[in-house]
Amino acid sequence: MTYQKKSIEDIAVAGKKVLVRCDFNVPQDETGAITSDKRIVASLPTIQYLMKQGAKVILCSHLGRPKGEVNPKFSLAPVAKRLGELLGVSVIMAEDVVGADAKAKAAALKDGEVMLLENVRYHKEEEKNDPAYAKELASLAELYVNDAFGTSHRAHASTAGVADYLPAVCGYLINKEISIMGQALESPKRPLVAILGGSKVSDKIGVINNLLEKVDTLIIGGGMAYTFIRAQGGKIGNSLCEEDKLDYALEMVAKAKAKNVNLCIPTDTIIADKFAADAASDVVAADAIPDGWMGLDIGPATLKAFQDAVKNAGTVIWNGPMGVFEFEKFAGGTKGVAAAIAESDAISIIGGGDSASAVKKLGFEKEMTHISTGGGASLEFLEGLELPGIACLEDK
Ligand code: AMP
Repeated sequence: MTYQKKSIEDIAVAGKKVLVRCDFNVPQDETGAITSDKRIVASLPTIQYLMKQGAKVILCSHLGRPKGEVNPKFSLAPVAKRLGELLGVSVIMAEDVVGADAKAKAAALKDGEVMLLENVRYHKEEEKNDPAYAKELASLAELYVNDAFGTSHRAHASTAGVADYLPAVCGYLINKEISIMGQALESPKRPLVAILGGSKVSDKIGVINNLLEKVDTLIIGGGMAYTFIRAQGGKIGNSLCEEDKLDYALEMVAKAKAKNVNLCIPTDTIIADKFAADAASDVVAADAIPDGWMGLDIGPATLKAFQDAVKNAGTVIWNGPMGVFEFEKFAGGTKGVAAAIAESDAISIIGGGDSASAVKKLGFEKEMTHISTGGGASLEFLEGLELPGIACLEDK
């Protein structure tokens, strides 16, 4: 797939009705108050550009899981209010998505005005990518802009289907995601070092396989490392292990050798006598974990080796924690890797999910080149899969 997609700056938008798919899936408390407006703030550059160019801006998004039914609990009205405050203009809120109110308000929009449709998931047709629903949504506008990276791996009506009926380009958020991650995969500053962690090998099979074609060094930490250690004959006690992935792990070890990739797996590990914050702990060789104990973090020698690999990197891609970082006692590996990436001069790309929250929590956000806004989407991107919400956009 090509990562060179047309963006809002590559087409004329003045005077046009532009349907923009945003990610307004914001967290709310039990009273419906928005507890973090980060996603709304992140959408501002695209919206402000379109307003300034004199486009008629029609925004849409999903919020939560209304399961195809109208449910005020999942209304986007609070988002319209907050967005209006941030933009300093009032945002027109439609009462429906493709109903009479949305149609009338879209038709009456003036240049530079902004409106927000109701939750696209009020219709079950959204997630089914129903062509009739996508066509109706598209009929509100003359152009489509996708700026919701977090849902771009889903072929839904508002993330991909509408592009069958409208010229489609990306907004600033998606443009940044695909240009930085695309470059890291296609023409990276080398050495390219990828660090994978988290609990399961099975979640990252495609990612490991694809990255072995691209990287100079592949580092594997977290719970998934023990399947690799066990596959190579190590004793891992009660550590996480996916018995049905042992052959796959060996295949990947062989592939790394064949591709001349430096595959780094933990040599020492911090073990615990139970899965708990207050467990007794010790440091042992990663392939000699005593019976009854489990590895919950990488050991100090492993951390040092991983940090050295990061120090010499031209580009680092990181996805998944090195240990059970939720327990302070076993958070050192994840923190140490985050700190090394923050300190290095490498281009640094952090996948969404746990690694992104660890980086933010540790205050390293500004030190990173790019923190992806989509966990699932960034993993599929690293797998080399075609993301429907990006594939549907016009090539540059
Ligand atoms: P994932 O959802 O696959 O990205 O994995 C994230 C989870 O992996 C976190 O909740 C970690 O606590 C967990 N994890 C990381 N290392 C280990 C480990 N050694 N044993 C058990 N769980 C782990």
